[in-house]
Amino acid sequence: MDGKQLDGKQFIDGQFVAGEGSVEDILAPATGEVIARVAEASAAQIQAAVKAAEKAFPGWSRTPPKDRATLLLKLADAIEAQGAEFARLESRNCGKPYTAALNDEIPAVADVFRFFAGAARCMTGLATGEYAAGYTSMIRRDAVGVVASIAPWNYPLMMAAWKLGPAVAAGNTVVIKPSEQTPLTLLKLAELIAGLFPPGVINVVTGRGETVGAPLISQPQVRMISLTGDVATGQKVLQAASQGVKRTHLELGGKAPVIVFDDADLASVVAGVRTFGFYNAGQDCTAACRIYAGPKVYDRLVADLTSAVSSIQVGGPDGQGVEMGPLISEKQRQRVASFVERASREKHIEVTTGGKSGAGGGFFYAPTVVAGARQEDEIVRREVFGPVVSVTRFSDPAEAIAWANDSDYGLASSVWSQDIGKAMRVAAELQYGCTWINSHFMLVSEMPHGGMKRSGYGKDLSMYALEDYTTVRHVMVKY
Ligand code: NAD
Repeated sequence: MDGKQLDGKQFIDGQFVAGEGSVEDILAPATGEVIARVAEASAAQIQAAVKAAEKAFPGWSRTPPKDRATLLLKLADAIEAQGAEFARLESRNCGKPYTAALNDEIPAVADVFRFFAGAARCMTGLATGEYAAGYTSMIRRDAVGVVASIAPWNYPLMMAAWKLGPAVAAGNTVVIKPSEQTPLTLLKLAELIAGLFPPGVINVVTGRGETVGAPLISQPQVRMISLTGDVATGQKVLQAASQGVKRTHLELGGKAPVIVFDDADLASVVAGVRTFGFYNAGQDCTAACRIYAGPKVYDRLVADLTSAVSSIQVGGPDGQGVEMGPLISEKQRQRVASFVERASREKHIEVTTGGKSGAGGGFFYAPTVVAGARQEDEIVRREVFGPVVSVTRFSDPAEAIAWANDSDYGLASSVWSQDIGKAMRVAAELQYGCTWINSHFMLVSEMPHGGMKRSGYGKDLSMYALEDYTTVRHVMVKY
């Protein structure tokens, strides 16, 4: 489908309606061209979407889980059936390789909906029984109510699936807002939703954070806010939520440490970082971007990684053999370039490959390795959210653990060693929501994903996400 046909369509109460707010140009990051123009939701439309969700809530929350599950399974099938169109639109709007969108993301999105379809039928109370003479207790796990979901631009369809899957499976109704930069695949998903779900269960409003996101989360009927985004946005969401004492679920930034011990299988490390430091052009909150290498392996790692990273094929979504696309916007490219520029001014730092923007109209930036970085350097401490990996030498395991944990973030981490006992001991000491051993980035629908510290709280994926979107209630009967 041509993105231009989607101009201005909000999805409210089962209907597509023209947006009444200001018009946003939607760009193709690989060329800088405008591929669609979407009018954002007005204040009245935001209110209408929330009211539709409120009206749909009693019926949807009492719909038997097996019937909710059936619709989620049909949605997964429909996404797969149109996988090529979804992948085309996603790769065009985000700049990522079409093959990655088609082969990695679409199957994962379908699997998330299928997982939560099954999970919806397994929501059981922790305990029932008689805890006082003459009384019987029941624990209920009920939906929270209207959920406002706010998604980022790096994986627009996948982030929508992570939010819609557990929320809707648990019996909540949702108003979801995609990033203003990448609304196209969620609007296409709404076309499938329109043919399956009762009106008001899922509503989509588009637009910017200040004009649409902020008023959406502040509606009094919204009982829970789920955000994947920047730490600063999370802080604003928390302030807004405090007014209505609303539940929040925050998946914020990351700066994943990758601890490479001297006994690691170097070829696996290099292949892993080449892939997972640069997947989605490094615009990933779990990107393998902050490497700590042991004293003996450091020099070879820098050399081998530099050579491997310089071979990454960069290009537009449809280019033959392309492994990495552009950044999402010119603003993001300038942000990434300025990080590398400041790092390269430090005498102890060497940019061993990359460190430059691509030519042409797209927002390309070369895959970059920054060697010799120290713990106090900005490039080691701040989230770059681009194709830049730093390498720092450590002297002993205690230093590696201390440096890995010396971060505002706590989302993902990895440990590489052939001594599995050592890797397990280090994993236990890392203050991260996820630690991979001899791997990085692998996510499955059954396992929780979520952070600690400023990376936020609440889990995506798994039964834990389903729990996050429910509330525990106690019903006691005297007999
Ligand atoms: P962002 O915070 O700028 O925007 C995220 C969403 O929040 C967008 O839809 C935006 O319109 C909306 N928003 C902005 N201000 C708002 C406000 N005041 N009220 C309500 N909504 C508002 O983030 P981004 O640039 O789209 O995404 C990049 C960030 O997301 C990175 O920091 C990255 O680490 C993080 N991220 C985290 C995860 C995770 O799982 N932890 C996954 C992907 C991305």
